[in-house]
Amino acid sequence: MLSFIPEDARERAYRGEITLKDALKLIKLPPFELFSFADELRSKAVGDVVTYVVNRNIYITNMCLGKCGFCAYRSDQGFFLSIDQILEKVAEANEAGAVEICIQGGYLPQLDLNYYISVVENIKDVFPKISIHGFSPMEIFYACKNTGIPLQEAFLRLKEAGLDTLTGTSAEILSDRVRKIICPGKISTDEWVNTIIAAHQAGLKSNSTIMYGHLETIEERLNHLFILRSIQQKTSGFTELVPLPFMPYNNPLGENLLSQGKFMTMGIEDLKFYAIARIILNGSINNIQASWVKLGKKLCQVALHCGANDLGGTLMEDQISKASGSTNGEYVSPEEIEWMITSSGRIPKQRNALYEEV
Ligand code: SF4
Repeated sequence: MLSFIPEDARERAYRGEITLKDALKLIKLPPFELFSFADELRSKAVGDVVTYVVNRNIYITNMCLGKCGFCAYRSDQGFFLSIDQILEKVAEANEAGAVEICIQGGYLPQLDLNYYISVVENIKDVFPKISIHGFSPMEIFYACKNTGIPLQEAFLRLKEAGLDTLTGTSAEILSDRVRKIICPGKISTDEWVNTIIAAHQAGLKSNSTIMYGHLETIEERLNHLFILRSIQQKTSGFTELVPLPFMPYNNPLGENLLSQGKFMTMGIEDLKFYAIARIILNGSINNIQASWVKLGKKLCQVALHCGANDLGGTLMEDQISKASGSTNGEYVSPEEIEWMITSSGRIPKQRNALYEEV
């Protein structure tokens, strides 16, 4: 069958060597050409199984000294959970059958490494089997900066305490031009890269994320994926990529864009991004997650035919997306997620954060 994908680019994609120049050309092809090639690569890389995780988000605090323009979650007069309150939430998750909790917070200078270690130790003391997917490279970077502890030592100590995986958040867009506008004061591209490499070298795996669809150019958006690919070639520490379309509501960056008539990314643009991510990351990051909280359940099912092979978590609580205007809910049952997968012609499989079968 005649394909619009040039043969040499197709071969480079199969070898995991596609270039930024190739990707900039491919992204302009008719969408269904891109979807079909991404689907072919997905099928070769991971087959027809679509994974999901039964998990719960736990937000330690909504206070943060950061000034990210896209953040609808930060509050100066917010809450701060005690260890007992965190344990109560873990107990609820455990009772509901969660195998993983995802712990997130903000940047507060008083949160030092000992604090993060004590959260992990307290949870593991009571719930030794629950997997802790927690903390962002930004949180650990600042905890180390405040106390002068080398990054790798910090990650070794967190791992020893029982942290199972690190989150790959705070990456936003790995372009300092964009970061200076949307999240001034947050760790730079190099700092994020060095922090995640230190975590991987300490033996902690992480996922990887990208928040796209605001001020970045297409080239910056695609270049982010090439940065992730080069880290993965060095460390093999990423478990997955989670593309997160920017939610423009209730935050200054979004309000500014909305006032210029710029709304959120179109569904077709999201799907093209999933497809090009599969093509760029072929041979390095095998798992691409379609986030039902961000995309909605129906678009997620379509994304499974455009390169994605994971539907993320059942969640129980997603305050961040809700605060930014997501109306897709905060919980989906394992039964419904399995139905979303089987009705898309795929085979459901429950996993943990390391993509091991549960
Ligand atoms: S995105 Fe994170 S670092 Fe930025 S203001 Fe919000 S909570 Fe703070």
